[in-house]
Amino acid sequence: MAPFETIADGVHAVRIPMPGGGLPFSLAYLVEDDRSRLHLVDPGSPTEAAVSTLLAAVDALGRAPRDVAAIVVTHLHADHAGAAAAVREATGAPVLMHAREAEALNAIEDGLPVPDLQAWGVPEERRPELLAVTSAPVPPGAGRPDALLADGDVLDIPGRSVRVLWTPGHTPGHLCLHDQGADLVFTGDHVLPTVNSGLGLGGPSVTNPIADYLAGLTRVGELGGPGVQALPGHERTFCGLAERCAGLREHHLRRAREVAAHPGGTVWETASALTWTGGWDALAGFTLLSALSQTALHRDFVERGGLEAA
Ligand SMILES: [Zn+2]
Repeated sequence: MAPFETIADGVHAVRIPMPGGGLPFSLAYLVEDDRSRLHLVDPGSPTEAAVSTLLAAVDALGRAPRDVAAIVVTHLHADHAGAAAAVREATGAPVLMHAREAEALNAIEDGLPVPDLQAWGVPEERRPELLAVTSAPVPPGAGRPDALLADGDVLDIPGRSVRVLWTPGHTPGHLCLHDQGADLVFTGDHVLPTVNSGLGLGGPSVTNPIADYLAGLTRVGELGGPGVQALPGHERTFCGLAERCAGLREHHLRRAREVAAHPGGTVWETASALTWTGGWDALAGFTLLSALSQTALHRDFVERGGLEAA
């Protein structure tokens, strides 16, 4: 198998294997500039395989590790940023991320905060399986950023105009990248072609991640005209970004309306009244925790008047 797939002129996707049995791979991208250097988006999981796969792709493109000019991470999760420190070590390239993501990384260094399962109304006998999956610390490897990015920044990629869009929701400092000349949008986990990304997965947030996410969908959707390709962090590249953003927006609003129809009670009671793919009874451990935390977010969204504002 070729070590990369060329998506557009000078833009190559690399499948990085993902340990853990969830999604099979993440997508890293190597973007050429007009000085024969490469700019890497999302190096992937903190594994030897990620680093060797990336370096093999760099080699197959006729470049050396020192030709990698920068490493941009869309967000802090291990399957995107996990290999950043190791790739920096191998190439000498600086790691760039959104300033808010660097803050989030600091805040959750010792692990994500444990939700108050009692306040959520989780029956006592179900708490151990949830506590077992909340205590996992954020996997190492993201490393400290060498430079911070902000919304509207244009990356230093000679010959291209690649703009940073701050798209919080999945995590507080998630970013997308818009290559304006090439009609490409790197969407990270903000928009995937078929998977609905979880929200609020980057530690504490004073704003509601669903409200943040919907605002980001509007901005990214506006970029998704005809001829625009979306380059996501998983699955495959796709067209129809505007439609996908509209579909995701509707998915969350539908969920919020369903939650609004079950007011009062606890998060557990609300969650158990909602429709779940595969059924509520099948949820356990991580999938149950995720169902409860997404329900808690939707309740908060509804309570803050999110449905009226949307
Ligand atoms: Zn991911």
